[in-house]
Amino acid sequence: EKLTGSLLYLDDVSVSFDGFKALNALSLVIGPGEMRAIIGPNGAGKTTMMDVITGKTRPDTGTVYFAGTTDLTKLDEAEIANLGIGRKFQRPTTFESQTVRDNIELSLKAPRGPFATLFHKLDDDQRDRIDEILETIRLTEQRDTLAANLSHGQRQWLEIGMLLAQEPQLLLVDEPAAGMTDAETEQTAILLKEIARTQSVVVVEHDMDFVRGLGVKVTVLHEGSVLAEGSLDHVSADSRVVEVYLGR
Ligand code: ADP
Repeated sequence: EKLTGSLLYLDDVSVSFDGFKALNALSLVIGPGEMRAIIGPNGAGKTTMMDVITGKTRPDTGTVYFAGTTDLTKLDEAEIANLGIGRKFQRPTTFESQTVRDNIELSLKAPRGPFATLFHKLDDDQRDRIDEILETIRLTEQRDTLAANLSHGQRQWLEIGMLLAQEPQLLLVDEPAAGMTDAETEQTAILLKEIARTQSVVVVEHDMDFVRGLGVKVTVLHEGSVLAEGSLDHVSADSRVVEVYLGR
């Protein structure tokens, strides 16, 4: 049941670093079209979880099922990316000397191979898709601006747009609100909610106001397993959650 109803299913996943259990029998189910926020104190295992999903870290035990029966733990990072799992890191990896629009175009063409260039012709559908992405990431007006000249928040959005150009089924986002202004943080919540209408999104985030703004189900990680799950109000009222946050 967990398998058929889920897009992503981590089943009893453990990862040790020198005997220290970063993930400890972690099980987690993300539904198709669901946005989930992952929170938890430093060292809870959030980054390790993302690393396991993307194939950067291989678990010692456990299975990660994607879209039914594909076992991600048997695949390498490139194969997992090709299945449609995109990850946005905190540090943007945009092409600084290219415009916003051309960054999206290059990313759209990238699946065709490492030699994608702006000289390859786009068809009308692809051109429309670029315009659509620029709207989603709120950068239509900045389409001809060089990436180097964007604000910190706008760059983060551009990178989300570059991931969207690759049409992921699942988008993993590490601390999207870090370093953003309040206005940018608010816009980011809105645009992620828009994206979550067509793909599943997993967001790791420390900023509780941002998580509240998302209004989605929250999973609290602690010592490599799930401590609590539910709405932010529900988990914040859980005394064990309060303890792990205040106890350090
Ligand atoms: P979070 O992202 O929730 O802060 P992490 O997944 O980064 O937590 O880390 C979980 C635990 O695993 C931490 O105690 C961290 O020190 C340890 N850890 C993570 N990566 C490594 C590594 N490559 N080598 C050794 N220990 C690691």
